[in-house]
Amino acid sequence: MILAIITFLVMFITGSHTEDFCYDEGHCDPYAWGDTFPSCHPILEEHHSPINLDHHMTRNESLEALHLDGFHTVHTGHWKLKNNGHSVVLEVGNGMSVSGGGLPGTYHTIQLHFHWGSLNTNGSEHTVDRHRYPMEMHIVNMKSSHPNLTSALDDPTGLAVLGFFIDLNYIENVHFGRISRLLPSVAYKGQTATVKPFPLIGLLPESHLSQYYRYHGSLTTPPCSQAVLWTMYEVPIYISWSQVSKHY
Ligand SMILES: [Zn+2]
Repeated sequence: MILAIITFLVMFITGSHTEDFCYDEGHCDPYAWGDTFPSCHPILEEHHSPINLDHHMTRNESLEALHLDGFHTVHTGHWKLKNNGHSVVLEVGNGMSVSGGGLPGTYHTIQLHFHWGSLNTNGSEHTVDRHRYPMEMHIVNMKSSHPNLTSALDDPTGLAVLGFFIDLNYIENVHFGRISRLLPSVAYKGQTATVKPFPLIGLLPESHLSQYYRYHGSLTTPPCSQAVLWTMYEVPIYISWSQVSKHY
């Protein structure tokens, strides 16, 4: 019983941390996050994300492509697409993990989510040579030695996030379509939809996965924990304009 109460408290505390922030509500935006969450001050913190990536960063030829286990498989069961009020999150259940590429261990894939701007502004979080892409996708993976997210956030390398820029062209992306066609049904906070599992590799720029930037950073939203090994892929995912417009 005591254990159950402690678990509940941890969930409650974690929950309140992830709820109490906003992006563009007048007085309240990312510049104000640091008032409540000290780690979110971009100037004060060394390992702050997102960052600008540039082509002059040190090249490490020994870093090979990551091993993406289970990404080619059609998993059983259902995935859940959820609007959490800040993003659209696809919870992918068990069966996928990432390792190699300089990561200190195996990381289980938990979820992926998207960041986007408004109709008039590009919305990627990271930039490349100051260029901002229309959208960015994050695949969040937790070091398998941790029992839960709270524990992983206390470890400087507790999470490995794979980041992909999303750019536009005129061709529908069939794989992205499995998510984008459900976006109207999760337009409001708290809404969920069921997604039939598909091989996640289909979403990714498969022939360019050895080209990436690596740095040690943080969550890009409160509590901004400095617990993330970032892998930012250089080659974007391409989707059509009609697919991105479903996000607005
Ligand atoms: Zn993110």
